[in-house]
Amino acid sequence: MIGIYGGTFDPIHYGHLRTALEVKQIFSLDEMRLIPCSQPAHGKIPLSTAETRLKMITLAISNHPELVVDRRELDREGFSYMVDTLKSLREENKDQPLLLFIGTDAFKGLTSWHLWQQLFDYAHLVVMTRPGYKESSLGEFLSSKWTKKKESLRQNIAGYLFFQSVTQLDISATTIRQMIQQGKKPDFLLPENVVDYIKANKLYMSQ
Ligand code: ATP
Repeated sequence: MIGIYGGTFDPIHYGHLRTALEVKQIFSLDEMRLIPCSQPAHGKIPLSTAETRLKMITLAISNHPELVVDRRELDREGFSYMVDTLKSLREENKDQPLLLFIGTDAFKGLTSWHLWQQLFDYAHLVVMTRPGYKESSLGEFLSSKWTKKKESLRQNIAGYLFFQSVTQLDISATTIRQMIQQGKKPDFLLPENVVDYIKANKLYMSQ
């Protein structure tokens, strides 16, 4: 089973890293791919270039061979649609379950994603929740995909929606960027080598 963790990672932080590692272990994934988006379709324009964000991910996971970075969205033209990413991963991995992981904040906006229903043709969707999270009304389509059986994800290569509670760290890239801009140290919110890289390259000094 292959895990997919997409995001802008502007910059990557322990909220991403901790949950990526945790779900890799919970689902016994063979591989967990961190996939930075190049051109977000949702108007959220990253402050750092895609190559810089990819570099920070590479630094962050340098001692963690269980996590890998995947640059396919940087090598594509146009908007980075997740459906295209899953389609290309599916072409490379015909028989393996693909699990797309997203946080609850991203899940709230799911139905505005480009061709969002087709995501389920290529992968399962796993929403990483806080312990005690209650699924609110999902609507007909998502309800039809929802399973509470974790085994269904291993027994099928795509098509299910699953909720998995994970340890949530209250860290966001937005807060980190704001801290840096205000001259505050972001230490201990993200890996030290990423903090050093941000400083050396004077990233996020202005918004
Ligand atoms: P920003 O503050 O710029 O919006 P972010 O910190 O939310 O960024 P993204 O790159 O937008 O990070 O998020 C990528 C994915 O990681 C999303 O699915 C999001 O829900 C999830 N995520 C982000 N922060 C956390 C966190 N602290 N704990 C768990 N998941 C997170």
